[in-house]
Amino acid sequence: MEKVALLKCEDYNVKLIEKKLREGFELLGGNSFLRELIPYNSKVLLKPNMLSIEQAGSPVITNFNVFEAVIRIIKDYSTDISFGDSPGFGDSNKAAERSGLLQVGKKYNVKFEDFKESVHVKLDKSILCKSWTVAKAPYESDVLITLPKLKTHAMAYYTGAIKNQFGCIPGTLKATWHTRMPNANNFCKMLLDLNTLVNTNFAILDGIVAMEGNGPKSGKPKKINTLIMGKSLTAVDSVATKIIGYDNPLDIPVLKEAYDHNWGEVFVKNIEILGEKIQDMLVKDFELCRKGGNFYFISPGVTNFLRDLIAPDPVLIEEKCIACARCLNVCPEKPKVIKIIEKEGKKYPVWNMKQCIRCFCCQELCPCGAIETKYSTLGKMLKMNKR
Ligand code: SF4
Ligand code: SF4
Repeated sequence: MEKVALLKCEDYNVKLIEKKLREGFELLGGNSFLRELIPYNSKVLLKPNMLSIEQAGSPVITNFNVFEAVIRIIKDYSTDISFGDSPGFGDSNKAAERSGLLQVGKKYNVKFEDFKESVHVKLDKSILCKSWTVAKAPYESDVLITLPKLKTHAMAYYTGAIKNQFGCIPGTLKATWHTRMPNANNFCKMLLDLNTLVNTNFAILDGIVAMEGNGPKSGKPKKINTLIMGKSLTAVDSVATKIIGYDNPLDIPVLKEAYDHNWGEVFVKNIEILGEKIQDMLVKDFELCRKGGNFYFISPGVTNFLRDLIAPDPVLIEEKCIACARCLNVCPEKPKVIKIIEKEGKKYPVWNMKQCIRCFCCQELCPCGAIETKYSTLGKMLKMNKR
């Protein structure tokens, strides 16, 4: 049975987080567990979530104090620790500096990898994707510990331990995956393959302050005092999604794919939860950005038809838009779905929804939170409103 440690941590105080994480490792097997996870002389890579260039403490990214607490524990097991990520937009060095992670890394001699150097590799035992260009650092690490942030996500409903490794795809190459995998089921198969490829060994999920609503960048911070850690990425994500209000893990596209391909345990009843009791950690009023449903899990032809009919659309909140055109730049479709037009002396983006694949890169990377996702009336009727 897969095990996760579920911990209550009410503050971003680094000593408190360290204490909680040490308790978590103790529950999972203590020193011998850690020694097995991090063999002697292994090269460890920490993979926080650095979605974009964000201020230290932002709920969009992994908190720097969680990062520091992890380093304080694992430095006794490895002298070769580095960290890295490739944000969806903007320079990774700037993102590392602004987030506070770079300063913490320097304090402990933990080198920053900007994920700009890549390797071309094959994955023979894949669900879907055999040929890859990935960042060299995670691919060549011996132990990959992912440090995701618990957030809502417009396309994937939720982002956590599995989705966090999308940052191992260097820079703008991420956009090409959205074009190649325009529906959620294939995109999630790709995410599972990517985790197999980089061999993600362990996850420590930062949900002390999570993100609800219009995630993964423009939602609202929600304090839920939660840390979840474990070797099984599906188990960590299943417990997290249950806590925020998804009763059925098969409503989460990536967990549905994991279940269909026997990639990992997704049912909470089959996961041994150590530490806190899950019923004591449930958040009743967490604002989910999508509430589940299965319209993505049908044949691709029908999916495309139904996508236009019932899938949510990116919608502009005009008063928040500063006409920076980042949404236009990040849209992976060719020709671009978005055009910037001028109306009454002000510039706005407009969408050609016939071409839109609903990857929500525009929503994810808008610096002003000016794009939200909205269901059509039919979409609302057919959904998915299980809570
Ligand atoms: S919607 Fe966002 S990304 Fe697009 S132009 Fe407006 S502010 Fe910029
Ligand atoms: S308009 Fe937005 S959601 Fe549509 S394809 Fe472009 S980036 Fe993706």
